Amino acid sequence: MNIPFDPSTVLIGGQWHKPQSQVYLGLYDPSTGEVIGQIARGNEGDIDAAVCAARRALDGPWGAMSALERGRILSRIGQAVLDHVDDLSALETMDVGKPLSQARNDALALARYMEFYGGAADKVHGQTIPYLDGYTVYTLREPFGVTGHIIPWNYPMQIIGRSLGAALAMGNACVLKPSEEACLSALMFARIAQDAGLPDGALNVVPGTGTEAGEALCRHPGVAHVSFTGSVNAGEKVQSTAAHHVAPVTLELGGKSPQIVFADADLEKALPFLLNAGIQNAGQTCSASSRILVERPVYEAVIEQLAKRYKALRVGPAKDDLDLGPMISARQQVVVQGYLDKAQKDELSIAAQGAIITDAPKGGHYIRPTLLRDVPPDHALAREEIFGPIQVVMSFDDEAEAIALANGTDFGLVAGVWTKDGARQMRMAKALRAGQVFINNYGAGGGVELPFGGIGKSGHGREKGFEALYGFSTIKTVAAYHG
Ligand code: NAD
Repeated sequence: MNIPFDPSTVLIGGQWHKPQSQVYLGLYDPSTGEVIGQIARGNEGDIDAAVCAARRALDGPWGAMSALERGRILSRIGQAVLDHVDDLSALETMDVGKPLSQARNDALALARYMEFYGGAADKVHGQTIPYLDGYTVYTLREPFGVTGHIIPWNYPMQIIGRSLGAALAMGNACVLKPSEEACLSALMFARIAQDAGLPDGALNVVPGTGTEAGEALCRHPGVAHVSFTGSVNAGEKVQSTAAHHVAPVTLELGGKSPQIVFADADLEKALPFLLNAGIQNAGQTCSASSRILVERPVYEAVIEQLAKRYKALRVGPAKDDLDLGPMISARQQVVVQGYLDKAQKDELSIAAQGAIITDAPKGGHYIRPTLLRDVPPDHALAREEIFGPIQVVMSFDDEAEAIALANGTDFGLVAGVWTKDGARQMRMAKALRAGQVFINNYGAGGGVELPFGGIGKSGHGREKGFEALYGFSTIKTVAAYHG
């Protein structure tokens, strides 16, 4: 596919132009390893220009716009995204190495976020507060001002939707720093938003590296809030950099999310979820279920069924739309292969592996999906986020052990519970340390409406749903004394 625009530009104040830095980064197709173009490597100057343009938008038409009108613009963007689903999906497939049908789901989710936040923009209110005699007290819910948005490469469209959708709905003006590994859908989305009537400066986009453009955005005193989605290491830096001017930060970080299968579970229903939650997007998903905990009476049966499915998995170029595409980069391929090598060195038991198709391009970053069994809970593969298509299966004997295992990592993003016992469902939902708990499903189909975020090293703050609208706004209390 030809890229239908110049990908080496930045968007500042409604104008597309080359970066001030005059420096560029290579753009790679992960399915082939080939260079397919170049993108801007924005620097501090580009970020400063973007923040100033966002400030001007707030002082101009965007800042003066009613919530109703902002909502209408977002809804129009949602419709325009739907009109471009095919182009967006094809671009994402090439850029991220995501099988076409998975990229299409992301484009549809982006449209849905715009629709949701378009409809919600005028439905978030302040309150009146009964107070002392002679006072009238109320709260105003206001935008922060300029918000910074730093996103990863694994689900660019979904994360753009949830983060920008909520921030724009609340009247913030945004500076987006997409990932240097995949930014094409961000650039195309910004064009779509412009064409749908988003005023100049309400959204500015500066691609670049994390340590240069990303840090400059967090450090900029004109940025009133930072929304970061990415790794724990980078999240720690983002939080400490933004702390220099005391800007609040939302951190959406990694996970090691468990699915817990009790012996009474409906295994036929559970099995597709157990598998897909591990291999979707080649395991490069924050909420991937990389741990499967199984009650001992059904342990062998679950492994046998999963192994059968693993052996049928096919990995290849994203455009072939197989079960899995490549890893995003050679670097990520090395990281994941390192975990497989460690598994072998430590004599972990491989229950099954999928296959890379024979004619997959030699330069592509392919990894065989791998199911490991009987992995000790303290082993690195059972504790660390791998971000590749590797799932570990472990057994437990009772509810208490299941909870201890499930809560036994530094992360707390998502958990799934499979059981027919209603009382146990409620106990588990309370006991699990996670931002989302799914009972007899996993992921609930993406759930634009469902607040999402982590605890522990999975981060803090919530995006998605109405909760994000509160997260991207602040409260002003007005106390009027009238006697
Ligand atoms: P990453 O942390 O390397 O990069 C994410 C973004 O942060 C990129 O845009 C990068 O340029 C930028 N960045 C890196 N260092 C920075 C710094 N010091 N200051 C400012 N910005 C910086 O992560 P990645 O490899 O792109 O993505 C994978 C990670 O993202 C995984 O850990 C995954 O779990 C996490 N993730 C979390 C969620 C969630 O919602 N919780 C969703 C998707 C991905």
